[in-house]
Amino acid sequence: MERYYSFSRYLKETFGEKVFRVTVDAGFTCPNRDGSKGTGGCIYCYSGSDYDVEKRKKSVEKQIKEGIERVKRRYEAEKILVYFQAYTNTYAPVEVLKPIYDTVRKFHQVVGIIIGTRPDCIPNETLELINSYTNDYLVWIEYGLESSHFKSLKWMNRGHGVSDFIDAVLRTRKFPKIKICSHVILGLPTEEYEDMMETADFIASLRLDGVKIHPLHVIKGTKLEEIYLNERFELLSLSEYADLVVDFVERLPRKTVVQRITGEAPEDILIGPEWCNHREKNRVINLIRKRFEERDTYQGKKCRFLEEL
Ligand code: SF4
Repeated sequence: MERYYSFSRYLKETFGEKVFRVTVDAGFTCPNRDGSKGTGGCIYCYSGSDYDVEKRKKSVEKQIKEGIERVKRRYEAEKILVYFQAYTNTYAPVEVLKPIYDTVRKFHQVVGIIIGTRPDCIPNETLELINSYTNDYLVWIEYGLESSHFKSLKWMNRGHGVSDFIDAVLRTRKFPKIKICSHVILGLPTEEYEDMMETADFIASLRLDGVKIHPLHVIKGTKLEEIYLNERFELLSLSEYADLVVDFVERLPRKTVVQRITGEAPEDILIGPEWCNHREKNRVINLIRKRFEERDTYQGKKCRFLEEL
């Protein structure tokens, strides 16, 4: 029995077969980096490896084409989701966004699109544009939330408030076919255990369709590295993280798709914790699954809210 509603299960149920993601960098910037909201960016933002410089030079069409070939070769998958991931993928007028998103129409293998963005960067006309793809594709928007506590958003220099997130969710809900996912970070030094559980309840109360859970990890060259080296605050151990994820997921509705339960980085740019390096990913996931078993618990066990409104 699967103890939480994984993204792979959700995709299998939706499409009847395995579906893989192809990540693209459409060349966007971010209002929290270019001065319109802020200049430094979020303290953990790393613009060197996530956002592959070579990839950025290629057209979106070429990236999708190469991604499809790779996925087909490696996994023999026929269907893919195009994930607009790098930076803020709604940060342009709709006239600029439309031809970028429309690139997916050139590939019959594409069955869905995922658009990663900030909750303060989603005007109504952009939502209308995104909604226009729901007739032909599965459509997810990912909003960076990270925490439901303003003190933490401030510490991370997110450049937006919790209210921006609620506003984005409520306006997106006017388009019921768009699925909403949010990112959260566990282990912020600004938060106690109860704060993290409050974020889980916050997500549950909004009945979000999905969540991606990450441990706080420090990457070389970021502002977070500087703060960490100065303050030496505690990073989570793997065992602590596994328990936190289980506690967090217990509070979510059973229908919320848990798209991610960990986060990682290449070893050469990771400061810590060491278990967040790419090579450890499967070990981390396996330990979390084992923890669910040992505690004989599951997603939704401690959810305080009705699944349906
Ligand atoms: S919103 Fe995203 S791209 Fe922008 S600074 Fe924060 S992490 Fe980086």
